[in-house]
Amino acid sequence: MTIRQTARLVDFHCHLDLYPDHAAAIQQRERERVFTLTVTTTPRAFPRNKELADRTKYVRAALGLHPQLVADRAKELSIWKDYLPSTRYVGEVGLDAGRRFYSSFDEQKVVFAEILSACAEARGKILSVHSVRCAKVVLDTIDARMPVGRGRVVLHWFTGSLPEARRAAEMGCYFSINAAMIRNERSVALVRSLPKERILTETDGPFTDNAVGHDGPADVRPARDGLAKLFQMGAEEIDALISDNLRELLG
Ligand code: MN
Repeated sequence: MTIRQTARLVDFHCHLDLYPDHAAAIQQRERERVFTLTVTTTPRAFPRNKELADRTKYVRAALGLHPQLVADRAKELSIWKDYLPSTRYVGEVGLDAGRRFYSSFDEQKVVFAEILSACAEARGKILSVHSVRCAKVVLDTIDARMPVGRGRVVLHWFTGSLPEARRAAEMGCYFSINAAMIRNERSVALVRSLPKERILTETDGPFTDNAVGHDGPADVRPARDGLAKLFQMGAEEIDALISDNLRELLG
């Protein structure tokens, strides 16, 4: 039995180290058999995340340098590069052209391009990518720096246009979908347009409101249930689809 067969749910983007009790959050995911990609926002946080994740069957730690932190932490790219050989998973990385972070956008582009080039050179990496208000630039950069076959991209909380989503799918990207996307009319139209074989679930906890009021990490079931409803699938059918998609992604 492989992990993908015994995992009950998939959360392909969350931040377990941002919960008050990091170790307990990991243990809960392990107990509940949720295949979890726990992303980091700075490379300095990676070793501890990896140490805890390596003791589990269902949790994987990703090496990140969050675009929203690039203004202060671009220098940590060298630390990020040092850790890259120790992991298959990269995230959270990407670009953020939102108003609060636009002042660092040029610097973000340099960092993201370098991250993609390093991943392309290393081969076989799986990336969880942030793309707020700049889907086109994110896709252009991936196209230029990490051609298909050199690595795999999961677009997290993707909010680009329908044509941009189609382009991303044609480039081989996956999409991790959270409950907030399913509550948003525009995102629903986008999710509906995606190839079903490219869909995964995520919580982005603790940045999503379904984390509020609970002690443990955000629950991925609202995302799973929302997708089931959207695609008119039963719970078993959607779980099988997502588990197949995960298996395909992980190769
Ligand atoms: Mn995130």
